[in-house]
Amino acid sequence: NTQILFSKRPIGIFDPKETFTIVKTPIPTLGDLKDGQILVKIYYLSLDPAMRGWMNTTRSYIKPVEINEVMRGQAVGEIVLSKNPKLKVGDKVQGLLGWQEYAIIDGQDVRKITPLPGASIRDYVGIFGGTGMTAYFGLLDGKPKPGDTVVVSGAAGATGSIVGQIAKIKGARVIGIAGSEDKCKWLLNLGFDVALNYRDPKFAEKLAKATPNYIDIYFDNVGGDILDHCLKRIAKNGRIVLCGAISQYNEKQPKGPAFYTALITQRAKMEGFIIFDYAQKFPIAIKDMSKWLQEGKIKRREFIIDGLENAPNGLLKLFNGFNTGKMLVKVNDE
Ligand code: NDP
Repeated sequence: NTQILFSKRPIGIFDPKETFTIVKTPIPTLGDLKDGQILVKIYYLSLDPAMRGWMNTTRSYIKPVEINEVMRGQAVGEIVLSKNPKLKVGDKVQGLLGWQEYAIIDGQDVRKITPLPGASIRDYVGIFGGTGMTAYFGLLDGKPKPGDTVVVSGAAGATGSIVGQIAKIKGARVIGIAGSEDKCKWLLNLGFDVALNYRDPKFAEKLAKATPNYIDIYFDNVGGDILDHCLKRIAKNGRIVLCGAISQYNEKQPKGPAFYTALITQRAKMEGFIIFDYAQKFPIAIKDMSKWLQEGKIKRREFIIDGLENAPNGLLKLFNGFNTGKMLVKVNDE
């Protein structure tokens, strides 16, 4: 059983080699399980920017990962041993199973997954998992109206690409912001109205041109300068969804927006949210997303890294924009 332990709290940008340690342990047996527990063979592990935050001891929505603990992570897999009367061997489950090949976990801490038409088990750490649910609730809680201008950053990533497509379904005009020309091309293929490369020296000018009626909803995945550029274009009574701030997660001194006064002049709102609070409502979202998937209204892309031992480098790749779509690690063959 390969396990990856969190071994050193980084300051600033993390070094995958120093931050994590790979260990080999025996595969647990039935005698290792307490009543109510199951043993899950993990197939796919989700890599998320939030993992950088879980390494810090600053006050947050979840406790930090402890040193020498198996690194925390959402994953999907199959039950291979069970001492839980509600879950049987062969059931597929999703949960915080960690960076390891086999996980012992309480049955009440996993969600049983049922195959849906046109979907794979990986979708339960993608569009039916944390990032898809984030896109759905983060955007729709703000009730976009047909004709609204919706801007999303990190637009070619797991969350952003779904935000843009849901906004299109709801009749909005959608502008995606991403870090390369190739990513922008993909966004236009997905049906985004405009795609802007934030590395283009004329980015600010192009954003202004693309938002003649200003921005009704800005779904912020990145923070930093891009948040400021969008604040400058926020519409009267506009709304900013503070979903993430990936540009700041590795900064020793994260910086807030300089142009927050636009919230005053435009009577706009900026609101943070954490997807864990919506867990009870996931079935509603999964039903909608599954329908849109089957109708071809939502498309998703995956960036799959092979082998658990490559997870530490994979996590760093997220911060360098290697991925288009959802970043996953293939841990075991299905
Ligand atoms: P993504 O699939 O979007 O991957 C991260 C992307 O961020 C990269 O591909 C890269 O694309 C972009 N990026 C990296 N560094 C920077 C930078 N300095 N400036 C601008 N863009 C950058 O990841 P997720 O979809 O998993 O997560 C997206 C955001 O949503 C994160 O901020 C995450 O923390 C947040 N989130 C929040 C949740 C919540 O409950 N609030 C739940 C889930 C996610 P590019 O090439 O375009 O730079």
